[in-house]
Amino acid sequence: MKQNGKPTALIMIFGATGDLANRKLFPSLYKLFEKDKLSEQFAVIGIARRPLTNDEFQNNVRKSIQSASKDDNRVDEFASHFYYHSLDVTDSDSYVSLKKLAGELDEHYQLDGNRIFYLAMAPEFFGTIALHLKEDGLTDVNGFKRLVIEKPFGHDLESAKELNNQIRTAFSEDEIYRIDHYLGKEMVQNIEVIRFANAIFEPLWNNRFISNIQVTSSEILGVEERGRYYEKSGALRDMVQNHMLQMVALLAMEPPIRLNTEEIRSEKVKVLRALRPMEGDEVEQYFVRGQYGSGTVSGEDVPAYRNEVMVSEESNTETYVAGKLMIDNFRWAGVPIYIRTGKRMETKSTKIVIQFKDIPMNLYYRTEQTLNPNLLVIHIQPEEGITLHLNAKKAGQSMEATPVKLNFANKGIDGINTPEAYEKLLFDCMRGDATNFTHWDEVALSWGFVDKISEVWENSKAKNFPNYASGSVGPKEADELLERDGFFWWPVTNLDVDNC
Ligand code: NAP
Repeated sequence: MKQNGKPTALIMIFGATGDLANRKLFPSLYKLFEKDKLSEQFAVIGIARRPLTNDEFQNNVRKSIQSASKDDNRVDEFASHFYYHSLDVTDSDSYVSLKKLAGELDEHYQLDGNRIFYLAMAPEFFGTIALHLKEDGLTDVNGFKRLVIEKPFGHDLESAKELNNQIRTAFSEDEIYRIDHYLGKEMVQNIEVIRFANAIFEPLWNNRFISNIQVTSSEILGVEERGRYYEKSGALRDMVQNHMLQMVALLAMEPPIRLNTEEIRSEKVKVLRALRPMEGDEVEQYFVRGQYGSGTVSGEDVPAYRNEVMVSEESNTETYVAGKLMIDNFRWAGVPIYIRTGKRMETKSTKIVIQFKDIPMNLYYRTEQTLNPNLLVIHIQPEEGITLHLNAKKAGQSMEATPVKLNFANKGIDGINTPEAYEKLLFDCMRGDATNFTHWDEVALSWGFVDKISEVWENSKAKNFPNYASGSVGPKEADELLERDGFFWWPVTNLDVDNC
């Protein structure tokens, strides 16, 4: 039952002393509480191995909120809903006392047996935890039970299947919420609205009018302390398999018959099924890998990837990927969708550029003008907005055309930051809306696609690594990928909302 329409639940956070819990989950839950989206009927049990009292844990929660938010006037009231339970998730005996605590809180806060199990821990523990939750009766409740899991969901299709089988022993597919935090981002969610709430775009959203699409997600940061994880992952598994392919699916899907979870997911799945598979030599034609060397970022010298902590001096791991995706269906046949993502790039930016085809003839050739193609740019982060690039008359006597930009910047409208992705996703999960979480079918198809590329890359050592300097725009081979088709990457810095 919901209190005043607000969701009630016991949220168990496994890994409650970790980075994700402290940096994202506690502040996001607090925002929901502060905005009055959470009812008074909620409790959180933080779970990790180190011994902490409830008071110490509540102090940690307070600190994490205070470092993330200026408005912390209800923080004591909020923190009083937090309880700590020290437990090694591999130790079967300790789940019994966790069950007891959960039962007591359920009664105290009248939570109707609603439970959310948030696994903010390394994936190797997911199967063990799911099994114990079932065997020790923690999932045996009258209300709903939901499992939230973080990426990475497996390392390849095989391991993802294994992981899925393990968690499916305790949870059904509709009880599993696989987080892809890109799907919680305001402007990623806006892709649907831009496409399906405007009469002017949908008729043009196909291979007759669009020449190519470019999706960029670049970071300034290097691998930081995550060398051990990243060595096994690389940019392909860390970014392409999930975030990049999810954005492509939203851009390319057919209009769903309804805007509900099943219909949207089913359209996204069709896009992933239509991705042109590639194997062997084809991989090098369609995909480019890169690894950063040393360089200068924001005026500071930074080391090469191979000199980072926990990284092999001969590492073959890619920190950059560019690729050309082809979607072999009626709508998209012949339209390349270029994606690129990398670490230690010149700028932090996630953007989508939809480039429309040129008009049939240029009437302005007498003025020796080449007209710019129309672009629709969706700015995802750090700035959020939409820009439409058009050609208009240059003011004055002549009939010269000049490029103009119609610009919408989210911050310009109401001056407030849009909610953090985790805030939205946690709220969705509490309300039982799984639309912005990834279905198993999507996970399986995207691993199937990516596995073919990683097989080739793992079996052939990149001879030219490192092939881009830190602080640059990536390897030159990524430019050549587009040049072969007569295109070029639109420079993301020139497209910024602030530059418009
Ligand atoms: P982390 O900082 O290393 O935290 C791991 C947590 O797990 C700690 O609370 C640790 O506490 C607990 N833990 C480890 N072994 C345990 C055991 N045997 N029993 C009980 N608790 C145990 O990791 P993180 O950065 O928060 O990441 C957690 C997960 O989220 C990972 O799968 C990561 O890939 C994913 N993720 C993280 C981020 C992020 O921003 N951090 C973003 C996306 C995805 P004790 O040492 O006290 O046991």
